[in-house]
Amino acid sequence: MYRPIFPRHPLAFLTPLARAAGNCHHALQRLAARMGVTGLFPISVLAIGALAALTMVAPDAHANEPASPSAPKEAKAEPKTEARPAAKAEKSEKAEKAEPADAPPEAMDRLREKLAQRLGAVRAPGSKSPNDLQVAGKNPEAPLVPKPAAKAKPARAGADGALEPHAVALHPAGPAHWAYNGAGGPEAWASLKPEFAACSTGQRQSPIDIRDGIQVQMPAIQFDYKPSGFSVLDNGHTVQVNLPAGNGITVNNRRYDLLQFHFHRPSEERINGKLFDMVVHLVHKDPEGKLAVVAVLLERGSAQPVVQAVWNALPLEKNEDTPAPGSLDVSQLLPKDQRFYTYMGSLTTPPCSEGVLWMVMKQPVQLSPEQLNIFSRMYPMNARPIQPTAGRMIKEAS
Ligand SMILES: [Zn+2]
Repeated sequence: MYRPIFPRHPLAFLTPLARAAGNCHHALQRLAARMGVTGLFPISVLAIGALAALTMVAPDAHANEPASPSAPKEAKAEPKTEARPAAKAEKSEKAEKAEPADAPPEAMDRLREKLAQRLGAVRAPGSKSPNDLQVAGKNPEAPLVPKPAAKAKPARAGADGALEPHAVALHPAGPAHWAYNGAGGPEAWASLKPEFAACSTGQRQSPIDIRDGIQVQMPAIQFDYKPSGFSVLDNGHTVQVNLPAGNGITVNNRRYDLLQFHFHRPSEERINGKLFDMVVHLVHKDPEGKLAVVAVLLERGSAQPVVQAVWNALPLEKNEDTPAPGSLDVSQLLPKDQRFYTYMGSLTTPPCSEGVLWMVMKQPVQLSPEQLNIFSRMYPMNARPIQPTAGRMIKEAS
């Protein structure tokens, strides 16, 4: 679309430059006014200078390429795109007059956007216009800049990635990351990565609505939990507590070590159709790598000491496994009545691996409304939808 500029007069090229510069200047001033930032004027002068210099460089073929703020080549790519306003300004005076002041050339939009990004502003959610910027601090839910991947220190359990239900590295530059709603929501999990296929093809998925269990006598789960140090990780999907070796359970003469526990809101499992306010999943692994998860349902009531200790140690940053002061006695998280439902299922997060032994405690444990609110502010909804039971055996301790 672009036609090179061949000025008839040796100084003719200055006309579009002046026009672009004026446009740029006003756009930046408007931006500064909207953001309440002062002192932008020197920046705009610099930007105009850069723009003028760049118009001398070869024009673009990629002006419509999406901006990739995290791409390291950004600096190299800029000259090409920023050359556009001069070309556009040259195109027609009519067009320029017809354009309201709020619609500067697209390269100006991008320049403004970049400046705004540097100044800590983000585009308003749902807006396609780079004019609709808002200062990030006003909207705590809007992500600022994606965190670099793989900063998350995998927990002890992380040695086996497939068995780590929640310590999945983030891939901000890749395709949609899995989530609980939107493009990366549960319906799309299987399509996000080949290794997530079980999320849709699996026949024994979790969670389920637990009903019609067969009532039998089952030996109690032998809990071997003791006070131990712990660390807390906000992995972007939940709050997870990682534990050192030493805690475990024995079920069917098999010992499973407790690796971590984490929370969902509302409860993922249902009992006869009933949802609970939250659930905590205690994830264990035996020496062969088999997983056993104990689910403790949480309902509104009195304060829960283990939950409080975890909330007190919430990390300020996501994806940083943060050692907590003091110790935690996980046994305080268990209900008095330790009868349970049991069935075979899967991880409830990608990769949705099956072969997980589930034990859902029948008696819920209470947490206070304040404790519930704290988690709700971080994760209002992080529960996978109910999966088909598909004739699976569910046993229930009578
Ligand atoms: Zn879970």
